[in-house]
Amino acid sequence: PRARPRPHVVLLASPGAGHLIPMAELARRLVELHGFAATIVTFTNLSGPAGQLLPRLPASVATAALPAVRMDDLPADAHDGFVLLELVRRSVPNIRALLRSINDGSSAAPLAALVPDFLCSVALPVAAELGVPGYLFIPSNLALVALTRHILELHEDAAPGEYRDFAVPLELLGGVSLCREDLPDGCGSSRHPGYEQVVELGRRIRAADGLLVNTFYEMELGTAEAFKRLAAPEQVADAFFFPPVFPVGPFVRRPDPDEADAGALSPCLEWLDRQPVGSVVYVAFGSGGALSVEQTAELAAGLEASGQRFLWVVRMPRTDGGDDEEDPLAWLPEGFLGRTRGRGLAVAAWAPQVRVLSHPATAVFVSHCGWNSTLESVGCGVPMLAWPLYAEQRMNAVILEEKLGVALRVPPEVGCLVTRHEIATAVKELVEGGQKLRRRAEDLQKAAAHAWSPEGPSRRALEEVAVKWKAALGSGRESNT
Ligand code: UDP
Repeated sequence: PRARPRPHVVLLASPGAGHLIPMAELARRLVELHGFAATIVTFTNLSGPAGQLLPRLPASVATAALPAVRMDDLPADAHDGFVLLELVRRSVPNIRALLRSINDGSSAAPLAALVPDFLCSVALPVAAELGVPGYLFIPSNLALVALTRHILELHEDAAPGEYRDFAVPLELLGGVSLCREDLPDGCGSSRHPGYEQVVELGRRIRAADGLLVNTFYEMELGTAEAFKRLAAPEQVADAFFFPPVFPVGPFVRRPDPDEADAGALSPCLEWLDRQPVGSVVYVAFGSGGALSVEQTAELAAGLEASGQRFLWVVRMPRTDGGDDEEDPLAWLPEGFLGRTRGRGLAVAAWAPQVRVLSHPATAVFVSHCGWNSTLESVGCGVPMLAWPLYAEQRMNAVILEEKLGVALRVPPEVGCLVTRHEIATAVKELVEGGQKLRRRAEDLQKAAAHAWSPEGPSRRALEEVAVKWKAALGSGRESNT
């Protein structure tokens, strides 16, 4: 007999490698473990530079690029976040057309679910139109989901017209406590210009049938437990309505085993091979993190004064423009590279981060706490010096330091220079002392590995979702199977 067609899951990834990479891992598991066909739909053509960042996908994970939409009528000074959301909004008709073509019955594989990442949530209603489950992928953590829920609840509880600022510290469901400075932009006050957007995004998140979150049970124990209690049948009727959450991570980019000799790929790895085990401080601020010129110089001085070995991914500093210099290394202090030669390596713009973190020479990660970087560090058992810069990174730093004890945090005053003395002291403490943090990081590494082991909680959570999707397909849409 002919094999039954695989039910089809379509995942929608907003631009940016930070969302695409974990989503690719999610797609891989849906195909390899649950017998779905998966297509990742992107806004950029993956044969371009963005595609180079993707690990090679199994043949069964397809990709499709949406056609370009007109964007040249936006004001020149439009904020990046606005442009991104607008791009997704204008692409909804194309997303609908693509899904219809999959779902029209002529395709071998019936559509089983639509999974946009949270920045593509404006596409969710298309799932309802087609009568399939619409789940959102959250490439961040449960604390962000709890924060979203909390803000919506406060917002909607407020009497009409009442102007409401939040009491701080804000105590989130599950026990993460945040002071005002540690809240993501737009979340701390209803007077903030970004507040309306936060509420709008929150409402769209609430409209999903479920949330797949790139985290794992033991990474956010209290919050995971609290969400689980909320989902208990006796709770559901009373509680403020919010969709069920499924911690299904960590989804981390896996170095491609087929990559030829890794050393030849990057001078970083070759250099690390020559350093003693557990001796190197790896410094990187993600794909978008930029320090000021002054802070870059101070960091250089701090690394130099620490006397430790370091591998620093130097990015272009933030400037007021008008500068033609395009080499980030040219912004380092005079003579710095010469004075630290042999014990430090500075590379421009990019390093193969997962390989660096899993290298035995790497001892500590100085990080902006982007969620992918955080999960990568945890997955490799490397303690961190948390240096959050924007988005939800300050909240991530709170979780890492206070809840998990795997990080020290640079002094959290917003907008202040982190001094060379503070950097040197923290880095030294982490490399030379830091046993307690290292032990905790190793424990968390084991928990991360366990999450996807045969009986692990993340594997089970994704299985629960897969069963729901297949059941929905069986109940309403027999004609297609
Ligand atoms: N990354 C990398 N090399 C670098 C800097 C970053 O490979 O030099 C990767 C890193 O491994 C992670 C992603 O880029 O997977 C950054 O994502 P994250 O969420 O940490 O931060 P964002 O770039 O979104 O601020």
